Amino acid sequence: MENITNPRRRATFEGGCEAAGPSWKESLARAVRDPAELIEILRLDESLLEETRKAAELFPLVVPREFIERMRPGDPADPLLRQVLPLGPELEEAPGGRSDPLEEKEFLRAPGLLKKYDGRALLIAAGACAVNCRYCFRREYPYGETPVGMKAWEPAFRMLEADESIREIILSGGDPLVLTDGALSRLVERLDRIPHLRRLRIHSRLPIVIPRRVTDRLLRTLRTSRLTPIVVVHTNHPAELDAATGAALRRFINAGIPVLNQAVLLRGVNDAEDALAELSERLIDLGAIPYYLHQLDPVSGSRHFHVPVRRGLELIAALRRRLPGYAVPRYVQEIPGEAHKSDLTGQLFPGPKTEN
Ligand SMILES: *Cc1c(COP(=O)(O)O)cnc(C)c1O
Ligand code: SF4
Repeated sequence: MENITNPRRRATFEGGCEAAGPSWKESLARAVRDPAELIEILRLDESLLEETRKAAELFPLVVPREFIERMRPGDPADPLLRQVLPLGPELEEAPGGRSDPLEEKEFLRAPGLLKKYDGRALLIAAGACAVNCRYCFRREYPYGETPVGMKAWEPAFRMLEADESIREIILSGGDPLVLTDGALSRLVERLDRIPHLRRLRIHSRLPIVIPRRVTDRLLRTLRTSRLTPIVVVHTNHPAELDAATGAALRRFINAGIPVLNQAVLLRGVNDAEDALAELSERLIDLGAIPYYLHQLDPVSGSRHFHVPVRRGLELIAALRRRLPGYAVPRYVQEIPGEAHKSDLTGQLFPGPKTEN
């Protein structure tokens, strides 16, 4: 029986159509992987090529053409380009930089399943991403050893079934939306059958870099699941949110699926009041909520993106003055051993001293 009063169902008809053009899979396949091609498309100085090639040997360049179209040609400092362009400083082993900065391996409960925090478990649902972000803390994660596929996840499903404290499953990666709609729907159906699970969270950058990834079938999978869906995208700079990306986020929201954003505080990308304020305002105007602003983890080769916490706190204080409270993301850092991500603004506004 069709329940036409269910707002999540009704919203499908208002969600807008899938955009025309090449499919998201074609976009993924046609992503730029050759540093020389990226330099040529953006008319950048060819002297960049040597260091770019060297850095790309350690962690390959991958950037979809839709994302390149949002960059300013001829500008090596473009905030979107900086996120994806391999550079010489990546080759420097920074003091304190580690390949597994979050010490994640000890939280592995089954192949591909991490449980670090109460009530939530994270499944590495894919080994690859649609874009390789140079600052990524997973850049040295041994994805090659990470199992992917229904058969490989069977121990993870059994672990989830055995631990009734887990209410929320987070699909992460890599990027879980590189899975085909068919594979995702099989995975979600399997998770649906774990009775104590209530929520399904998807952490993905694909709706931002290839907006066509938000297909009708993906929306249907999320809407028809027994689990309450939540989508967390990853946008660092307002220029990432062009019209097509905005429309893609709206399709989730119109289908009744909340969209949250996480950003990483990055030198030369978004370590400026105006960039962060505009990012928050554009997200809010689209109906998406700024969730986290992450302090960069000390991963090898990302030192040149580092912003001191003191500066981050100044930026948050400025956002608090300029924006409604709901538009200010929580400024957090993962500190190994803590029971949750640590809110760094505790240092800015120490709580009132209580008498009792
Ligand atoms: C960040 C993270 C979560 C989710 O944390 P929230 O604060 O709920 O967003 C869950 N599991 C792992 C392993 C994480 O790194
Ligand atoms: S999309 Fe996310 S997981 Fe993938 S490289 Fe970028 S930051 Fe890392």
